[in-house]
Amino acid sequence: MARDERSVTPQSEDFAAWYNDIVFRAELVDRWPVRGAMVIRPYGYRIWELLQSDLDGRIKATGHQNAYFPLLIPLSFLEREAEHVEGFAPEFFMVTHAGGKELDEPLVVRPTSETVVGEMMARWISSHRDLPLLLNQWANVLRSELRPRMWLRTSEFLWQEGHTAHATAAEALAETMLALGLYQDVAERMAALATVPGEKTPRERFAGAERTFTIEAMMRDGRALQAGTSHFMGTKFAAAFGIRFTGESGTAELCNTTSWGMSTRVIGGVIMTHGDDKGLVLPPALAPYQVVIVPIGRGDQGSTTSTAASALAARLQRAGIRTHVDDRPQLSPGFKFNDWEMRGVPIRLELGPRELTAGSALMSRRLNYGQPDAGKQAIPLDAAPDLLQTELAAFQATLARRAADFRDDHTAVVNSWPEFITAVATGWALALHCGEQACEEEIKAETTATPRCIPLAGEPEQGTCVRCGKPSAYGKRVIFARAY
Ligand SMILES: [Zn+2]
Repeated sequence: MARDERSVTPQSEDFAAWYNDIVFRAELVDRWPVRGAMVIRPYGYRIWELLQSDLDGRIKATGHQNAYFPLLIPLSFLEREAEHVEGFAPEFFMVTHAGGKELDEPLVVRPTSETVVGEMMARWISSHRDLPLLLNQWANVLRSELRPRMWLRTSEFLWQEGHTAHATAAEALAETMLALGLYQDVAERMAALATVPGEKTPRERFAGAERTFTIEAMMRDGRALQAGTSHFMGTKFAAAFGIRFTGESGTAELCNTTSWGMSTRVIGGVIMTHGDDKGLVLPPALAPYQVVIVPIGRGDQGSTTSTAASALAARLQRAGIRTHVDDRPQLSPGFKFNDWEMRGVPIRLELGPRELTAGSALMSRRLNYGQPDAGKQAIPLDAAPDLLQTELAAFQATLARRAADFRDDHTAVVNSWPEFITAVATGWALALHCGEQACEEEIKAETTATPRCIPLAGEPEQGTCVRCGKPSAYGKRVIFARAY
């Protein structure tokens, strides 16, 4: 059966096809004829800007300064930290020619900037008085992606990367956890994601890190999405790049460094956490338009309601509500309603001649959760700014609560292999594991699930591996899940 051009593949039928339908039809992205590349359209970019400006504020408020480092890195710089280059080499984009000539040394397009920043930190730090050095950059990075997916896995993506240097390991570890806390705040308060903060198991660590921490978010298909990571490097990068300081006693010591990043893939997480068969559902904090007003009526009536809609929009804008008037004359109200549902606008207002006479507008929410569907509800225009601010706050809280409920309902403590298989088919399994690579690989081969993190909040627990029965490692349960 031919699908209506505007309809979307149902989530329950094919989640991946649903996701693909949404990102294009909501006009978030478009295609580009380079493998793994993605054009971010204005509506999608605005969502990123809203997340970015909130995170940037938190980064600055905790004492970090923004800087910008070069895109091209001499290959030899990346080779100075052996584990780092080994981890990233398969994903390199390399520049071998410039100005029509072959270069003496290839230049790598940054996959991440530890090596660039490390080189500069070595120049800028000499004394304990130079520490801590707290830097951040907003940038694009490139990592070749063979199986690309819009927002989630693209060869070029946007992110911020924090890079810091400290006098002691304890201070660097505290910084690593501070960054993780910033990510959790942004993920939960702005994006309304349900996350679990935890530590990566050794094989899932960032290449070159001593410890890697993550926030893992649950998507509506039960998969995990790594939504932000924070790395404690110890003195490994400091040793490779000569980042030293003279301590108070006069001896030269290596710095302890950190790095941490959050990227545009979080937008993919927003789509897959909140969206439904009608399209996107955006948390108000990240919605380019929090309220869309559709004036109803033709001819003179239409121009009267359009004028009233513009006046209402101006009042809402002054109250800090991002508002848009959809006065496209060639389109029917029904088409507009579907269009803004597809684009995930939290609240829609209809303003017709009858409402205008009564001094009201008809309000519809994009989603009802835990409350009866109120349908269209008349609200007085006089009180609209206050009332809509309350509605938007409630909508944001509703999305966060729904995501947290879903995560909790789809996370199971498992103690046997059959329970494990059932749990990772639809969600996350909290299991004891031996920590051995061969065992992890067997689990992955059979279920496609991998260790996502050891939750920070997990209780100490020992026992036997859910798969092989050997003694468990890590002293806690591990989250296993299929992941993006
Ligand atoms: Zn095992």
